[in-house]
Amino acid sequence: MQRWPTTVRFAGKKLLFYNFIVQFACGSATTNTLYGTWSMKVLVTGGAGYIGSVTVERLIAADFSVVVLDNLSQGHAAAIHPAATFVEADLQDPDAIESVFAEHAIEAVMHFASRTLVGESMQKPFLYLGENVVCGRNLLECMLRHDVKRFVLSSTANLFDSPEKIPITENESIRPGSPYGESKRILERMLYWLEQTDGLRFAALRYFNAAGASPDRGEDHTPECHLIPLVLEVALGKRESLSIFGNDYPTPDGTCVRDYIHISDLADAHILALKALDQGSRTYNLGNGRGFSVLEVIETARKITGHAIPYEMGPRRAGDPAELVADSGRITSELGWKPQFAQLETIIESAWHWHRNHPNGYGDQA
Ligand code: UDP
Repeated sequence: MQRWPTTVRFAGKKLLFYNFIVQFACGSATTNTLYGTWSMKVLVTGGAGYIGSVTVERLIAADFSVVVLDNLSQGHAAAIHPAATFVEADLQDPDAIESVFAEHAIEAVMHFASRTLVGESMQKPFLYLGENVVCGRNLLECMLRHDVKRFVLSSTANLFDSPEKIPITENESIRPGSPYGESKRILERMLYWLEQTDGLRFAALRYFNAAGASPDRGEDHTPECHLIPLVLEVALGKRESLSIFGNDYPTPDGTCVRDYIHISDLADAHILALKALDQGSRTYNLGNGRGFSVLEVIETARKITGHAIPYEMGPRRAGDPAELVADSGRITSELGWKPQFAQLETIIESAWHWHRNHPNGYGDQA
């Protein structure tokens, strides 16, 4: 059953009635907009993966009902929240998607399932330009057939190769840095057109560097190739050292600069965006507005873990832009999004906590 916040007129202003009630009761802007009496059923593709599983956790905490669709090729069964309904299926199989929509009264979709590696996409472009695009298309076509018109897309900062201005706003020119970024650009364009043709309402959320962990869910890829988990694997003694991909970039210390955003803050942005969809489609850049070089990340991790974390300088990784830092002013002013874990130390500490408690990740990969 769908319970919508009622829109009322009050003193000449349009207010969301439920927001008003919760605001009155709690007096906290973040809490108001994140939690309330929403009982929408949300399909989360990739809900067994890193960002998807933490978003499911937050959706359930906010009273949504969740169906997870995941083929477990990269995700982990143990990461799926026990209160979610799980369907093991592949988005390349239209019949499997059709069964999910036929069986469950889905009202909105959050689409995380994706190939996501910049470096891999430079080596295997068709995996990205093919699979990522076809899976998104299959999902959207099925949604629209079932008259489901709310969609939140995991998009990426890799849309912004060599940006003209840093921090990067949503008005920056789109120049994907890799076939991965290009696949997200194609999906964003698909959403634009489906809004024109079918009245789809979408939010395209361009993540900068998702990092950190919730107490129960963290980052576990096989093979691992993301900076923070690799650094922590060195600190745990699982690897001897780290290779830094290039120190000849036009940045203060020559290594790439990235804007790291805590996974729970990212998850909350999805919920805010979903709740705002009926007021219109939207596109947001999501980061903390501060960039850290690879060397600064290692230095911070050294302080937190007490480990020396040795590294060697290696060649650049193809597809890596020099500097990516978000201007998230738009989502802050439009939806009141405010990161709760904005400090790099807090982000790395949360990841360190999870990795120490899960030294073999979810323990399901050889
Ligand atoms: N990086 C690195 N060594 C590694 C992994 C990553 O120097 O073993 C760098 C990478 O070049 C990038 C930054 O760390 O500048 C973050 O990379 P990650 O793969 O974590 O995220 P991405 O920026 O690709 O989304």
